[in-house]
Amino acid sequence: VKERGRGDFCFFSPEMNARLMERRAMEADLRLALAEGHLRLHYQPQVALPSGRVIGAEALLRWTRPGHGNVPPDRFIGVAEETGLIAPIGAWALHEACREAAGWPEHLGVAVNVSAVQFRLPGLYEAVASALKASGLQPSRLELEITEGVLLNDTDDTLAMLNRLHALGVKIAMDDFGTGYSSLGYLQKFTFDKIKIDRSFIQNLGNDANSAAIVRAVVGITRSLGVRANAEGVENAGQADMLVAEGCGEVQGYHYGRPMPPGDFARLVAG
Ligand code: C2E
Ligand code: CA
Ligand code: CA
Ligand code: CA
Repeated sequence: VKERGRGDFCFFSPEMNARLMERRAMEADLRLALAEGHLRLHYQPQVALPSGRVIGAEALLRWTRPGHGNVPPDRFIGVAEETGLIAPIGAWALHEACREAAGWPEHLGVAVNVSAVQFRLPGLYEAVASALKASGLQPSRLELEITEGVLLNDTDDTLAMLNRLHALGVKIAMDDFGTGYSSLGYLQKFTFDKIKIDRSFIQNLGNDANSAAIVRAVVGITRSLGVRANAEGVENAGQADMLVAEGCGEVQGYHYGRPMPPGDFARLVAG
């Protein structure tokens, strides 16, 4: 607790201090969770349209924090990024997802999220390469999902790294497409394998003409570019029907399957 004296500045309000303490505590718990193997990945089916066949899964981090219950990744990934913990956590996720996917039927792929901070920290390339080697997974079955943030500081280094990863044989998807500042510009700079249309556009498909027009346009762009399109966050049959009508080739969302533990996904796709 800071004492107030002559000419003293009070840098931290009690609220800010509490927030800082909470982030420190979360960092310590996260470090422990990684060390003790308490982080988990759940897998959400990715489904081809119009066939409805499962063609892979997106791996999503899950953490049950002692005394706090399940903490959503949106709440702890920021802390992991600030502390650099995202590098070892991301490396763990790559190894785990590749190991898991190597046990699935061979036509199924796995997608792993790579945050912008993680992308810039050293060791990403090595983590991807060693996850592939350790698991024996065919590189083309691994897809890295990056957000526009990765390309925001559009340095030659970023593009060089994306190209190095491509040269390993892995796929690169642009996640949350349409939510950034320069989405189209990024498509010009790098040849993505897949574009994931952000959930916010899919959510309003049925009741908002603008969203439908945007989805139609994005699917058209992906077709012109020869890139696959994935519509995220499909929650009902109405949205699914519209996406089929627009010629969107791939979907993901609660309508098809929620993120699930590895055992459940393995059973779902078992021969
Ligand atoms: P994201 O990559 O955009 O992942 C999709 C999120 O949407 C997931 O939330 C998923 O559970 C949720 N979702 C899927 N289908 C539906 C639907 O039909 N309706 C709704 N309302 N939501 C749906 P989740 O698992 O909470 O993850 C949130 C974010 O955390 C992810 O967004 C991603 O940015 C990040 N994240 C998750 N796992 C990892 C990871 O291993 N590494 C990194 N760097 N980030 C991760
Ligand atoms: Ca994603
Ligand atoms: Ca997304
Ligand atoms: Ca997101």
